[in-house]
Amino acid sequence: DQARGAFAKTGLFDAKSYGDPVANLSLMGDMLTGFENGDIFLAYQPKLNLQTQKIESVEALLRWRHPQRGMIRPDIFVTMAENTGHIRALTEWVAQRAVADQRTLADSGLPLRFSINVSGRQLGDGSLIELLDTLEVSSPDQLCFEITETAVMGDPDNAVSDMRAICEHGFSISIDDYGSGLSSLAYLKMIPAQELKIDRSLLLGLAPQSREAFMLRSTVELGHGLGMKVVAEGVEDVETLEILRDVGCDLAQGYFICRPVPLADLTDWLKQERPAFLPEARLSA
Ligand code: C2E
Ligand code: MG
Ligand code: MG
Ligand code: MG
Repeated sequence: DQARGAFAKTGLFDAKSYGDPVANLSLMGDMLTGFENGDIFLAYQPKLNLQTQKIESVEALLRWRHPQRGMIRPDIFVTMAENTGHIRALTEWVAQRAVADQRTLADSGLPLRFSINVSGRQLGDGSLIELLDTLEVSSPDQLCFEITETAVMGDPDNAVSDMRAICEHGFSISIDDYGSGLSSLAYLKMIPAQELKIDRSLLLGLAPQSREAFMLRSTVELGHGLGMKVVAEGVEDVETLEILRDVGCDLAQGYFICRPVPLADLTDWLKQERPAFLPEARLSA
């Protein structure tokens, strides 16, 4: 109960307390309730094509508005689900919800590709493969699985074999958070992916002609050379967007374009004639 007090104080479940088994158990119980009453939901963040200036796809991101503890960050409760054996169920829920929302959006005249995030923990244990057959997507190339590169490192053979299965079903794979942590070219070479997603950390300190810009350009070229589309995540200002276009990055995602929002808000936003974020004059240089 001391732990619960600590949560209540911050209003946010924090990683320090996450090792407490009693607190975990209680939070996992809350999670089941959260699904039932809609406190756990998916928010969607669009990906902007930098050439066409059109929204091409959206990424599903988990949200949990806890009635007592406030917003709980997804990476924290995803980790908890991993450690308590609930990750398969969570991924399945996310996938089915996203596919249903994709259908809803298509029915209202907005057909878009969807991405979901998949926990690295699940990769290689075969559970994803079972899930693949149950997904009713209009066309498999409309669903993408975002997987971090580090997910492959534990058990490369089995991880890559699961990834191949995803591709054989016609779904696509995106390498998430590329350039953060332990990026290794040896692993990158093995992964059968169609999209490379550059981590936000690579966008920090970006200025024209800077070392950062050089690294960004090289990473984009690396992705292209390996036959992938390149996406930058965490774009927060127009200057960054312009540098991304300049270095040939294909897609961008970030607060500057649109925050992750519930489906209804996404639909409204997409239906605007021209989203207000697009400063036409500067972008169409
Ligand atoms: P991610 O997949 O790399 O998602 C990108 C994160 O950056 C998201 O955080 C997003 O809200 C945030 N972001 C987007 N634009 C900006 C920006 O312009 N600036 C900044 N500072 N941040 C931005 P979020 O939603 O908190 O998710 C964190 C991580 O939790 C995700 O990282 C992903 O690894 C994990 N996650 C989220 N949803 C799921 C899920 O359904 N399943 C699994 N397994 N993991 C998930
Ligand atoms: Mg992602
Ligand atoms: Mg990412
Ligand atoms: Mg991330």
